[in-house]
Amino acid sequence: MTDDCVFCSIVAGDIPVRTVHETADVLAFLDANPLARGHTLVIPKSHAEHVGDLDAADASAMFDAVASLTPRLQAVVDADAANVGINDGEAAGQEVPHVHVHVIPRFEGDGGAPIHAVGGERPDLSDDDLDALADEIAAAVAG
Ligand code: AMP
Repeated sequence: MTDDCVFCSIVAGDIPVRTVHETADVLAFLDANPLARGHTLVIPKSHAEHVGDLDAADASAMFDAVASLTPRLQAVVDADAANVGINDGEAAGQEVPHVHVHVIPRFEGDGGAPIHAVGGERPDLSDDDLDALADEIAAAVAG
């Protein structure tokens, strides 16, 4: 819990939200500025700013909640699909510095875009660049 975090205040019950799911470790509630009917945020109750700051238990609890909630949410709002994503860091559009997963129901012909639309200008990477990059990332993850 950090004092100046809006999502910590929500977890503490100091700011009201429309809760749709709650466990000991996770809270899910309707986004106050929904991009679609049913737009839901899933957060760990413990404060962590970035997805990489989550400990294994919170990461697991958060993604378990996302996996169980997403199809049920889609069924309730009669959605055809959903985008599930995290703005991880300011440059990626994160405004609230407490990790949260957006679950955004999608409807045929709703005028929205796939998650590919979040990227900027596409990089021009050769096969050699991609091979080297994959090796570098694999080594970093293994280390
Ligand atoms: P992000 O840009 O990924 O940090 O998104 C933050 C999201 O939190 C936005 O979609 C906001 O609409 C949502 N949000 C911020 N404050 C609240 C609140 N008090 N209750 C519900 N949703 C909120």
